[in-house]
Amino acid sequence: MLPRRHVPLLRAKLEALLRTYGAAFLGSDPLGMAHPYPHDEDREAAAFFAASLAFGNAAAIRGSLSRILGRLGERPAGRLRAFDFQRDAALFGGLYHRWAGPAALAALAHLTGAALREAGSLGALFLENYDPAAPDLTGALAAFRRRLLGLGKDLPKKGLGGIGYLLPDPEGPSACKRLHLFLRWMVRPADGLDLGLWKGPRPDQLLIPLDTHVARIGRLLGLTDRRTPGRKMAEEVTASLRLLDPADPVRYDFALSRMGILGHCPSRRDVRLCAGCPLQDSCRYWRRVPAGRKQAARESLPFAATP
Ligand code: SF4
Repeated sequence: MLPRRHVPLLRAKLEALLRTYGAAFLGSDPLGMAHPYPHDEDREAAAFFAASLAFGNAAAIRGSLSRILGRLGERPAGRLRAFDFQRDAALFGGLYHRWAGPAALAALAHLTGAALREAGSLGALFLENYDPAAPDLTGALAAFRRRLLGLGKDLPKKGLGGIGYLLPDPEGPSACKRLHLFLRWMVRPADGLDLGLWKGPRPDQLLIPLDTHVARIGRLLGLTDRRTPGRKMAEEVTASLRLLDPADPVRYDFALSRMGILGHCPSRRDVRLCAGCPLQDSCRYWRRVPAGRKQAARESLPFAATP
């Protein structure tokens, strides 16, 4: 947990980071795949696919999504609403995102389509179990997942095996990054990055979508002392970020994850990159670098944040 005395400095540093990593960087994120659709229902459906498949290398994710969303056409919500696993599974023939092949993709399409038919939208399905008084959305998200999986009772076991990974249990030990990423996109206001499509759930109820980059950089910034990425770490990082912004703690997520995804704060530390890093004064690693090395690094490579 972040010591309160570190809050003012880190808040200033992260605000600067937000100004660096804005909408110009959407091209490096699966969220950028949902933005071009003009209709909200298509953005929601495309975003659900994009978040569910957001595992692995960022460039590979976008490549896979481009092919998968391409099969769903210009109006993915309508295509999914009409989707039936038994009849339409061939739609994804030959497509893979890492291990997720045609059967897993068709199962995801089947569940999404069934949800759209039953509730009208994914947001409406989520709201069935939303509690405004709850401190976070974990319970509602777990109920949403159960409702979705319940809509797949007629699916063959082969398809549902992959779905268990695509839709993990938010009440388990995993950070469930992809489900919380989808919530961030839906719940945070439309600010050029997130989509703000769902009305009701509040940004202060969101949990950080903890990936390896945010976990690592979160430790460097003192947002958590935990070593194992998981739900507990996500809760601790979020609690620390609430000290910076109680109403919208996860608004720093996109910028923090850019630092890792784009190699501007690589897991193999490079003091030359640190020399121009806007977070250096709040970073545990940089504080330990000897003054002579810092000076030499400052005189070498400039920090360049480019999309
Ligand atoms: S100072 Fe270096 S290690 Fe620390 S956050 Fe910046 S790039 Fe990462």
